[in-house]
Amino acid sequence: MAANPFRNLPSVNAVLEAPAIQALEREHAHELIVAAIRQELDGVRQRLSAGEAIDGEADAGMISARVVERLRHELRPKLRRVINATGIVLHTNLGRAPVAEEAARAAYEAARGYLNLELDLATGERTSRQDAIREWVCRLTGAESATAVNNNAAATVIALRALCHGQEVIISRGQLIEIGGSFRIPEIMAVSGAILREVGTTNITRLGDFERAIGPNTAALMQIHTSNYRISGFTESVPLADLVALGRRHNLKVIDDIGSGAMLDFSRFGFEGEPVARDSIAAGADLVLFSGDKLLGGPQAGILAGKRDWIKRIEKDPLMRAFRLDKMTLAALETTLRLYLNEESALRDVPVLRLLGTPLGELQQRAEELAVRLRDVPGIASASAIADIAYVGGGSLPDQKMSTWVVELTARDLDETAFARRLRLGDPAVMGRVREGKLVLDVRTIFPEQIEPLVRAIGSVVNQNSTSGVI
Ligand SMILES: *Cc1c(COP(=O)(O)O)cnc(C)c1O
Repeated sequence: MAANPFRNLPSVNAVLEAPAIQALEREHAHELIVAAIRQELDGVRQRLSAGEAIDGEADAGMISARVVERLRHELRPKLRRVINATGIVLHTNLGRAPVAEEAARAAYEAARGYLNLELDLATGERTSRQDAIREWVCRLTGAESATAVNNNAAATVIALRALCHGQEVIISRGQLIEIGGSFRIPEIMAVSGAILREVGTTNITRLGDFERAIGPNTAALMQIHTSNYRISGFTESVPLADLVALGRRHNLKVIDDIGSGAMLDFSRFGFEGEPVARDSIAAGADLVLFSGDKLLGGPQAGILAGKRDWIKRIEKDPLMRAFRLDKMTLAALETTLRLYLNEESALRDVPVLRLLGTPLGELQQRAEELAVRLRDVPGIASASAIADIAYVGGGSLPDQKMSTWVVELTARDLDETAFARRLRLGDPAVMGRVREGKLVLDVRTIFPEQIEPLVRAIGSVVNQNSTSGVI
């Protein structure tokens, strides 16, 4: 009769003495290691109970190797670097805008040391942290003053609350949008305590509709850029200049939520009708709101630019304390804004602008080179470069299409879904698209220095033994 296999299992203490575990003790808490050893031993016991043969897998050395692997996997960071091969430049799920190298460095320096966040270095007196961005936003937009909060949703809430609480704000029905899940204008309005007064219809709103809705309790007229959809066909909307003229006649504020924060004319990238903050201010808007991490290409933020008095009132609102930016974001935002003082440096150094501006011929060349490299990877069945269409923004500007180049891939032993999943779980993680039996990698959003790690990541997942690893 064979010996009882359970009796041959090592004890927890025996595994703890294995050299691999001794090395782990320097990195991980003892209790975590003991728990992982118990889990591994339990796993082996279960397999033995199920009648499995586990020859050679149950000695202390093997168990300790599996414990090392288990802890490495369980305790790896939840937030990991991702190579964005979706072609979506502003991908909300991938952190929207990658910031400029200089902006990232400013955030890093701000994070690891002290800085004059709320200190005037000339006088030694306390100042506002908003001074770090105020002047730059004013120079870039022509506004009298400016301030910043956590995102444009917060900017909308605080502006409406500070300036329009308990009063009516008139908005066209054609602009009552939802942006990315939970940002719905009527709900934001309700949260702020302002009263939404809708006018016009979905496709047609005229100046007269606004005019007739004005009453003793009206505080503002508001325009909202329909960033993520377009109404076409039989349509009419009110130009900002007309809204401003109406507002002046009735002594009402005009608020313009332009959404994406374009600082320069985006028709150079083939997008028509993208509002520019400076134009809104020039047209007479009292307050312009936009995001920091959409077309501006900076960190997540909401910027408010406009009349000095309104900005002061917003900064005095108690929500300011809850919505204000932290030192790292402020540092990155200031650096991003300063890049725009010279359009050439913005186009060169702000990644969003660089990615959107890459010429199609260059993308074609990169896609063809990548396809050639990937064809040589064992485990890859096919790799071809083709022209394609991508979208600029996942949740932010989903209707803006762009021509691009992609590499379509198939693997010998993996279907496209398994292939995509393994790439997502790899190191570095790679996020592509899956389409008609193929994995699609868009080169527009892959940085040149990521090509090597990308090729390696693909090589390692197509050659992975499908039963290996705990993933
Ligand atoms: C994106 C967007 C918002 C929300 O901005 P966040 O910075 O994502 O909070 C608000 N309004 C418009 C018009 C937008 O496009």
